[in-house]
Amino acid sequence: CGVIGCVGRPDETLDVLMHGLSKLEYRGYDSAGVALANGSVEIEKRAGKLENLEAALDGVSLEGAVGIGHTRWSTHGPPNDRNAHPHADCEGQVAVLHNGIIENYQAIKDELQAAGHEFESDTDTEVVPHLIESALADGATEEDAFRAAIRRIEGSYAIAAVFADHEAVYCARQDSPLVLGVGDDATYLGSDVPAFRAFTDRVIYLEDGELARIDEGGWEVSTLDGEPVEKSINTVNWDP
Ligand code: GLU
Repeated sequence: CGVIGCVGRPDETLDVLMHGLSKLEYRGYDSAGVALANGSVEIEKRAGKLENLEAALDGVSLEGAVGIGHTRWSTHGPPNDRNAHPHADCEGQVAVLHNGIIENYQAIKDELQAAGHEFESDTDTEVVPHLIESALADGATEEDAFRAAIRRIEGSYAIAAVFADHEAVYCARQDSPLVLGVGDDATYLGSDVPAFRAFTDRVIYLEDGELARIDEGGWEVSTLDGEPVEKSINTVNWDP
C-alpha cells in the first residue's frame, strides 16, 4: 500500500523510513515493516498499527546504509506478522516489498517450491525474493536478478528491493505509483511524494515499465529490457 526507501543517510535510515511510513498512514494499512541492509539484511515487521512496529523496534539497533519500508493492505494472505512486508529469500540475501497484486504468482510459487524454495508467507509477493535468489544462484548480478524477477511477474506492482551488500536499492512499477526523491546527499523512493517531502522537493515520477537503481552516486532509470531512460526532475511547490 505505502512504500518508502532511502539511500545515503547511513546514520538515519531507520528514522527516515519510520517518518515516511507515518506520512503514508492516510492511505490505510493493516501491517507495517522495514528492511535495512548492512552486510546482512535485517527485517522487522508487525501486523497492526505503526505503534506495533515501533514497539518491536524499541531497543533493537537496526542500522543500514540503505533501507525500505512498507505499509501493507493485504490482498493475498491474512494480516499477520508473517505476511507483513518486506519478504526475504531463503538465504537472507535480499528483502522485497510490494504494492499491488502479482496475478501469476501461483504458477511461479509451484515452480520455485518444486525447486526446493521454502516459503514463509501466504503472500503473492514472496515469489519475488525467491525469483531473485534463483537468478543470483545462476550467476546473475543483483541488477540482472532484480530485472529478471520483474520481467517474470504479471499484474500490478510498485516493488522495491535491498540486498545484503547494501550497494543500492532497486525498484520498478506497473499500474501502481512510484516516485523518486532527489536530495543533496540522499535519494529516496516513495509510493507518493509525502513519504519523503520533508527531505526534498525534487522528484522524478516513474512510468509503467520503468525500473530504477538508486545508489550513493545517484539514480538510473531503465526499461525492463535494460534500455536507459532519460528522466526529468520536477520540483513540487507544496510544503511538507
Ligand atoms: N498483494 C500484496 C499482499 O497481499 C501487497 C498488498 C499491498 O498492496 O499492500 O501482501
